[in-house]
Amino acid sequence: HGVPGTSKERTFIAVKPDGVQRGLISDIIARFERRGYKLVGLKLLVPSKALANEHYADLSKKPFFAGLVDYMTNGKAPVIGMVWEGPAVIKQGRVMLGATDPTAAGPGTIRGDYCLTIGRNICHGSDSAESAEKEIGLWFGGKGEIVNWTANNDEWV
Ligand code: ADP
Ligand code: MG
Repeated sequence: HGVPGTSKERTFIAVKPDGVQRGLISDIIARFERRGYKLVGLKLLVPSKALANEHYADLSKKPFFAGLVDYMTNGKAPVIGMVWEGPAVIKQGRVMLGATDPTAAGPGTIRGDYCLTIGRNICHGSDSAESAEKEIGLWFGGKGEIVNWTANNDEWV
């Protein structure tokens, strides 16, 4: 799933249910698209409990874990799952999201511009090459779900 450290690096970015409910899908996609990153995977779904449990497995001992999984899976709104590709996209994706706690997220970041509550922070991004590999594999299993294509900014005039 991508080649970290190259222009083929890939990360998993999601618009969580509150971001979808609030009409922020297009804004979040636009930020990555305008930056020059390439969208290579995109889906709308209500994730299963099994998927959310695995996605957040490293948080399973946290007191907020059950609430977090319910928020992601209860179907009140779906999740947008995406794979974005480009230089340093794992680290820059996290920078573009802003701090986990939106009250610490800087202006100009997605969380810093749109939210204030840690439990409703509207977006997700892989935090390392290992997480990106795991999360892309979890959310994008099917044949043809990730598309290799040539963007017109792969080479500038
Ligand atoms: P991030 O999403 O920035 O990678 P974490 O991996 O630490 O952050 O946590 C995953 C998600 O769990 C957060 O985005 C947030 O939705 C939720 N979360 C984290 N900490 C808390 C908390 N103290 N209370 C409620 N929800 C939390
Ligand atoms: Mg995380």
